[in-house]
Amino acid sequence: MATITLSNVSKDYGGGPVLRGIDLEIREGEFVALMGPSGCGKSTLLRLIAGLEEPGGGQIHIDGRLVNDVAPKDRDLAMVFQSYALYPHMTVRENMSFALKQRRLPQTEITKAVEAAAAKLGLTALLERKPKALSGGQRQRVAMGRAIVRDPKAFLFDEPLSNLDARLREQMRYEIRKLHRELGATSVYVTHDQVEAMTMADRIVALNDGAIQQVGSPQDLYDNPANLFVAGFLGSPPMNFLDATLAPDGALVVEGQTLVRAPLSLPPGTTVTLGLRPEHLALTTPADGVPVRVDMVEPTGTGRVVHLALGAQRLKLFTMDTRPLAPGDAVGLMVPPGAPLLFQPGTGTRIG
Ligand code: ADP
Ligand code: MG
Repeated sequence: MATITLSNVSKDYGGGPVLRGIDLEIREGEFVALMGPSGCGKSTLLRLIAGLEEPGGGQIHIDGRLVNDVAPKDRDLAMVFQSYALYPHMTVRENMSFALKQRRLPQTEITKAVEAAAAKLGLTALLERKPKALSGGQRQRVAMGRAIVRDPKAFLFDEPLSNLDARLREQMRYEIRKLHRELGATSVYVTHDQVEAMTMADRIVALNDGAIQQVGSPQDLYDNPANLFVAGFLGSPPMNFLDATLAPDGALVVEGQTLVRAPLSLPPGTTVTLGLRPEHLALTTPADGVPVRVDMVEPTGTGRVVHLALGAQRLKLFTMDTRPLAPGDAVGLMVPPGAPLLFQPGTGTRIG
C-alpha cells in the first residue's frame, strides 16, 4: 500500500498546458476517482503517476520517495486499461503468470499467486481458456487478475469499464469496489462517468481543463460544489441553472417570478446563476406555487423527470408524485428554502 503525492505537477505536450499546477495527496488504501470530461487531462495525470510520461514541472512522490526519475517498472504500480491488452495466444493462466515469469519467480509461487487471484475474481474455471473464449466482463477480470498477482503498491485504472454494456458496468463497479475492500490497496481510478465516481470513490478529484476544481467525498461534492463545473458534472438529471436577479426584499427573481429567498444577502439587482437540483423541487397547483408549464414528461420507473418552462427558461424536476401530467399543462413549482445554490455568472464560482 502506498501514498501518492503530487506537488505542483504540470504537463505540456507542446500545444499548451494539459495539466496546471496539480497538488494532490492520495492516502494509503484510499480509492480516488479522477473525474472529468474527455480531454481534461485525466489519463495524462495517471500516466505521470505510472511514469509513462515525464512531468514538465513539479514533483511526484510514492511512499515519500521522489519518483520523477524512477522508471515505470521500478514504481511498483499496476495499470488496468479499458482495452484489456491480453495476449490472445496465451491462456488466462499464462496471461496472469506473465509478469511474474518475467520477474523469474519460482513456478510454485507463480501458481499460488495466480490461483489465489483467480479464486478472488471467479476465474478458477476459466484458467485454461484463451481470451477469445471469454466475455468482455471476464476479460476485464483477467486484466485485473494480472494486476493483482503483481501485488503492487497501488492500482491505476484508466476507464476500465468503458467497453462494457450498462448492466455489466454496474456489476464490475461492485466487483472492483469489493476487491478494493478486500485488498485495501491504494487505487486511482480515471473516469468521465459521474456515476462511477459517485458510487466507487472514497474521494473524487474533479478535473477540468487540466486543473483541479475540487477534491472531496462524493456527497460533499454533490451537496457543496465549489463551482458551476462540479455542480453540473455530478447528478442525473443534472442541476438546473437559471439566470436570476436579487430583489430588494432578498428574494431570487427568475423571469419576473419570485422563486425563493436567497441563501445570503446580496445587493438588490445583483445577477446570479441559480442552481437547483431536480430532486429538490416539488409540484403543486399553479395558485400555490410559481406558475410554470409542462414541456415534457419522462418516466424513469422510480418516478418522473418533468421538463418545465418558466418564461423563456427551462428546468427539470424529479418527482415521485403520481398526478396526471401532460405537455402544455399549467402547474405550480415549489422551491424549498434549502434548495438554492448561487454562483457568480462570469467565473462560475459558488457564492452561496
Ligand atoms: P483525458 O484522459 O481526460 O480524456 P488526456 O490526458 O488523454 O485526457 O489528454 C489531455 C490533453 O492532452 C488532450 O488535449 C490531448 O489531446 C492531449 N494529449 C494527450 N496525450 C498527448 C500526446 N501524447 N501528445 C500530444 N498531446 C496529447
Ligand atoms: Mg483518457
